[in-house]
Amino acid sequence: MGVGGESAIPEEVVKDYDLKETLGTGHFSKVRLGVNKQTGEKCAVKIIEKPSGSKIAMLKAEVDILTKCDHPNVVKMYAVYETETHLFLCLELLTGGELFDRIISKGHYSEEDGRRLTITLVNAIQYLHSIGVSHRDLKPENILLKDETEGAAIKITDFGLSKIFADDLAGEVVMKTACGTPGYVAPEVLMKDTYSEQVDMWSIGVIVYILLCGFPPFYGDNDAQMFKKIKAGQYKFLTPYWDPISAEAKDFVAKLLVVDPTKRMNSTDALKHPWLSKEQTGGNLFGGKAASGGDTPDLKQEMSNFNEKRKEKAAKTKDGVGDGATKDSAGCCSIC
Ligand code: ATP
Repeated sequence: MGVGGESAIPEEVVKDYDLKETLGTGHFSKVRLGVNKQTGEKCAVKIIEKPSGSKIAMLKAEVDILTKCDHPNVVKMYAVYETETHLFLCLELLTGGELFDRIISKGHYSEEDGRRLTITLVNAIQYLHSIGVSHRDLKPENILLKDETEGAAIKITDFGLSKIFADDLAGEVVMKTACGTPGYVAPEVLMKDTYSEQVDMWSIGVIVYILLCGFPPFYGDNDAQMFKKIKAGQYKFLTPYWDPISAEAKDFVAKLLVVDPTKRMNSTDALKHPWLSKEQTGGNLFGGKAASGGDTPDLKQEMSNFNEKRKEKAAKTKDGVGDGATKDSAGCCSIC
């Protein structure tokens, strides 16, 4: 039976929800629009074929924790249903698309915007870490917007569930072919060391680097080259792209892209860092007044180039064309 096959829908789901059109498909799941029969409230029903062996316990533990998450910038899980073969996760419906797409379509973008976004992201991650949850798969594709309005909230989605599956499939943690670019993965994961929630702080470092210059810190002609650089923590604040960026912002990124996870800033330290703590307003890029400091046109162009390549690559992996088919890293930008 395929993912989300009609016969897999349990009676409880049918009792509570009208399942409508497919909203999208992932590597291990299918997502359909659900309408709560009592309240009329819409949600996204993610239908996941259960993995084999011990992974099912891991998956259930993760899902249990996620049902307890309650934060304005973390996707809400309303309910979970289970059959012999499938899990049905009823999630908050997100219709605003990906954060990076929104940034590109926005009229202006500056370091101050990046800083506000970072405050929001780090606060959400600190909340998750405070309740013992690690995301483990933070990347731009998993930072979505609630809806299409200008002030839409940012939502972190798609927790480490796909890692559990990739683990199951490939027998190792790094999701090369299965889940697209591994450019956000922490060095300790690549080195197969034991790892903690600090992996999320590394990924935040990579995402903030991109938010500030438009291209990623680690890149190579192939994944092996990129892994080597990640493991060595080898990156630069390239001129001229980083020249207009403040020393505080660079210091913030530098304290996250630290190979030793015990020396890397944790989420609490990150919120106290001078770059973030000077004005703890939180909010998000789209809510407040126009940020001071003006546009950074190169930044938007670089981000647009990067975003295009990232999407191309994601589409290829979804079509079953893995990394081996292309030597181009989604990390490549106009200067790589
Ligand atoms: P992967 O398999 O790499 O995790 P993915 O993140 O795209 O890929 P899913 O999380 O299963 O996989 O999502 C598949 C698609 O379903 C998404 O691309 C999106 O179009 C849609 N989708 C997922 N979650 C939601 C949601 N909460 N609200 C609305 N649409 C969603």
